[in-house]
Amino acid sequence: IERINRRKYSGDKWFSLEFFPPRTNNGAMNLIQRFERMARGKPLFCDITWHPAGDPGNTEKPTSSTCISGTMVNYCGIETMLHMTCCNQSVETIKQNLQKAKDLGIRNILALRGDALSENGEWQHVEGGLNYATDLVRLIKQEHGDYFVICVAGYPTGHPECTSYEDDLIHLKEKVDAGADFIITQLFFKAETFLKFQKDCKSIGITCPIVPGILPIQAYQSLRHIVKLSKLEVPQEIIDAINPIKENDAAIRNFGIDLCVDMCKPLLKSGEVSGLHFYTLNREVATIEVLKRLGMWNEEIQRPLPWKLTANHARCK
Ligand code: FAD
Repeated sequence: IERINRRKYSGDKWFSLEFFPPRTNNGAMNLIQRFERMARGKPLFCDITWHPAGDPGNTEKPTSSTCISGTMVNYCGIETMLHMTCCNQSVETIKQNLQKAKDLGIRNILALRGDALSENGEWQHVEGGLNYATDLVRLIKQEHGDYFVICVAGYPTGHPECTSYEDDLIHLKEKVDAGADFIITQLFFKAETFLKFQKDCKSIGITCPIVPGILPIQAYQSLRHIVKLSKLEVPQEIIDAINPIKENDAAIRNFGIDLCVDMCKPLLKSGEVSGLHFYTLNREVATIEVLKRLGMWNEEIQRPLPWKLTANHARCK
């Protein structure tokens, strides 16, 4: 968080990269090699998403979020943030997950509620469980004090289940007041959507860094999947531009890169944004190209990865 603030005042722009855990051991090997290649651009940190059903493998399976995060921090030497959801799990399990993260040397947690797993997809309160991300932020603070830097999610057009955009902002402020250090947003399609959200957050007293979540559109199917998951509306002009080229992956990717660069430029120029968070979807070409065009991909000072085996990693084994 210190590094985020320092960069804000120096005007030095930064970026972070999000990955999801691989499904197979081979996938894990490929992902680790991708971390190595993408670390050359000097992300401030990388993060690993958490499966909505929990992290059943925990540290034992190389494909679990916790294990892959541990590998990222200990083996690749990358500052790492682990996503963690709190719904559908007992408080005891969450405490164990936090302890495992700590044992692996992870210092940053993205604290989330997660989505209900009920068949009708509707959210259900759990008596005695943690019902909101705010509860998880409080639990982390209560159990671990200031050990973890805590990030929370923000929604520039409001969370899909929120009673209103304004109520959602109030709940976001509750997360920050409970101890969150910074916010990463849901993806959005227009710079003004983010800038309005940021202004609205400021107006109700949210003063921590708010990092825009950026999705370079890379393929028609993946866009459809993400939009369905996040319940976002794609602007008509984007749909109209993509429809004629939807069978052509290279054309969609080039369109996505142009669109993304055009959206990021005004964000960076606004003076309100010092960092960008990229939803990479575990791919590298589009994100790297966007970063290069924004002048944020800096491979000049190549550092070899330390491949360090820390005491923590040894413990993990
Ligand atoms: P919360 O902040 O708890 O909010 C959920 C809803 O409850 C909102 O509508 C809010 O307005 C409302 N609310 C909050 N507090 C109260 C209250 N006290 N009273 C009444 N209403 C309240 N999901 C995963 O499964 N794994 C991931 O790795 C993952 N990563 C994500 C990363 C980012 C950057 C983002 C933006 C989302 C991510 N998600 C992930 C999705 C997220 O889990 C879902 O959007 C989920 O529905 C909400 O999680 P939250 O932490 O935002 O919830």
